[in-house]
Amino acid sequence: MRLGVHSVTTQTAARHRRPTRWVASIAAITLALAACQAGDPGASGTAGSSGGGGGGGDGDYPDAEITFIVPFSAGGPTDTVTRLIAEPMAEELGVQIVVQNVTGAGGTVAADQVANTEADGYTVLMHHIGMSTAPTLYPDLSYDPLEDFEMIGLVTEVPMTFVGSPEFEPETMEELVAYVEDNIDSVTYANAGIGAASQLCGLLFETATGLDITEVPYEGTQPALDDLLGNQVDFMCDQTTNTSEPIEAGRVKAYAVTTPDRVESLPDVPTTEEAGFPDLQVSVWHGLYVPAGTPQDVVDALNAALVVALADENVIARLAELGTAPVAEDRATPEAHREHLQSQLDLWRPIIEEAGVTAG
Ligand code: ASP
Repeated sequence: MRLGVHSVTTQTAARHRRPTRWVASIAAITLALAACQAGDPGASGTAGSSGGGGGGGDGDYPDAEITFIVPFSAGGPTDTVTRLIAEPMAEELGVQIVVQNVTGAGGTVAADQVANTEADGYTVLMHHIGMSTAPTLYPDLSYDPLEDFEMIGLVTEVPMTFVGSPEFEPETMEELVAYVEDNIDSVTYANAGIGAASQLCGLLFETATGLDITEVPYEGTQPALDDLLGNQVDFMCDQTTNTSEPIEAGRVKAYAVTTPDRVESLPDVPTTEEAGFPDLQVSVWHGLYVPAGTPQDVVDALNAALVVALADENVIARLAELGTAPVAEDRATPEAHREHLQSQLDLWRPIIEEAGVTAG
């Protein structure tokens, strides 16, 4: 049986107040329902079997379909990682997993939704590094990442890449920085909204170069990449889980990877450090969350399925193709996840405060 996936996308306006210039704002609420093959955006199929009922904490968990909420667009990097692990997790848990894309406000709409759902293990959030940056970026954030969720475990840590549109003039990271400086009023940078990894990477670019870039927010980096490929925006920074294939196919200009070492699957792409920007480094870690108060046996069941998924040969092979790998087993635990989130909250707060970026 194959994994059951429906994609429900809710786009919500985010009003941003920040020192950089924004050339687009999104003020639409849409609801879209799509279905196609597992592994593709909006995929549909089944894995395991679907039962009725619900509950949790009674030893029967799971006995109904589970929904995985993705805070960004279908087809993007967060969505890709989610769908990849959802299939073996569904098999392990013996129920269908539905993947739902709830977009808006850099991932905070989805996190808020999950924080406020029933703590029964039937709604699970996949989120990334944005879980640790949002509390600083959004002074009025409605949830507390540490207090309002139980952690299931870390999933993967993904390098980012600076890429340019096919017609964008710069060919190297050094040329990119010089070109942005010379054309500061016209160059555009795509991101997935305040709270997205791409926004954080843009902020690090600004800090490293002293340049104040014009950012164009999207509901995820898949639509951003589409516009980049169509030369509608100039450059972006996104996970290798989204950019590996266009880089390998020569459809985008690849400038640099944001990790200390080159990415094995992209050996020709230099690091930001090689390009002269040693502080421009970030890896996008992902983790699974359920609402605070979820019974321990439910957390344990989800964690056990996650551990199985991360050891799955197909998951490992596909992540390797996309420039990354599952986390080591000792990081795929609620304790390691909580510790990492706390340390990332501590790491990013002063950096964001120093940059003076807020959303509201
Ligand atoms: N990679 C995106 C980000 O900038 C989100 C996504 O579309 O998955 O956080």
